[in-house]
Amino acid sequence: MCDTCLVTDIQKFAVNDGPGFRTNVFLKGCPLSCAWCHNPETISREPEIFWKRRLCVQCGECLSACPRDAVAPPVDPALSQPPESRYRKIDRAKCDRCMKCVDACKYGALVVTGRPMTIDEILFEVEQDRPFYDNSGGGMTLSGGEPTFNADFAEKLLLEAKNRGLHVALDTNGFASWETLSRLVQHADVVLYDLKHLDPSAHREKTGVDNALILENLARLTGSGTEVWVRIPVVPGYNDSLAFHKEAAEFLAKLPGKIARVDLLPFHNWCQDKYDWLGIDWPLAETQAMEPSMLEIPIEFYRAKGIPATVGGSGFEDGREAS
Ligand code: SF4
Ligand code: SF4
Repeated sequence: MCDTCLVTDIQKFAVNDGPGFRTNVFLKGCPLSCAWCHNPETISREPEIFWKRRLCVQCGECLSACPRDAVAPPVDPALSQPPESRYRKIDRAKCDRCMKCVDACKYGALVVTGRPMTIDEILFEVEQDRPFYDNSGGGMTLSGGEPTFNADFAEKLLLEAKNRGLHVALDTNGFASWETLSRLVQHADVVLYDLKHLDPSAHREKTGVDNALILENLARLTGSGTEVWVRIPVVPGYNDSLAFHKEAAEFLAKLPGKIARVDLLPFHNWCQDKYDWLGIDWPLAETQAMEPSMLEIPIEFYRAKGIPATVGGSGFEDGREAS
């Protein structure tokens, strides 16, 4: 087993990803490719390059450094700045990720996303905020990407976190064999479980995979007595209809065991820059962000079934949100 795993971010003071204040650890790599993904840099297992064009002064140092002719030549800075620009700095098909261009850039415009970290290095950062966990019931949330996609490393990390007395949440899309998923779940205090759609073809269309395994694992998980928080990213035109939420509430209420709560997560487009930095045209770039108030009616379907439900997923009883 590899001693390191690629981590895209360690995000502190998160309040929407499990109880209390959390430190979210994002592992790189995911078997799904959800159209609304808010962390597109976590989908590939490989290190990638962000090109932050607003920081680029078009000096051309990266062009000279690239041995594969993968960097576009400098252009008039005025032409590269407008948000509507489709200028691409890097030809990702030619690039072999040698990162010589990143080393050459003195302006922070080229950045590697995905740094290899050991379990000790990750937990060193996580444990810095232990006093805040102790006061709030918080801890570490292991996310991604998809933790089961790096199962051996994720299991070891969860186990070590538990051994150090941390509260641990596992954030998963459930697309893994039951054997793999249960290996990780046994070390988690709570599982945050994504539900995107109940219709198999709608699920395949927007995530790239079938949902049968995901729904089956959710049923097994609740039947095992695990504390499960179901999280539904609500996306306009996809799963925001009252019919969908009525059906989802009925489905969740009929699972073999009770789920602890449902969190409806309204679509937002704060991640637009990341798609831009990766040179990807985001199909949902023009989709309007949802106001939390738009979910006031759907959420009542879950409550009517006796399932506690939130809009936004706050881990605090006063409902505070991430800034
Ligand atoms: S990572 Fe290497 S191959 Fe890719 S664009 Fe940069 S210098 Fe060229
Ligand atoms: S080295 Fe950095 S600042 Fe210079 S052209 Fe390349 S990305 Fe832009």
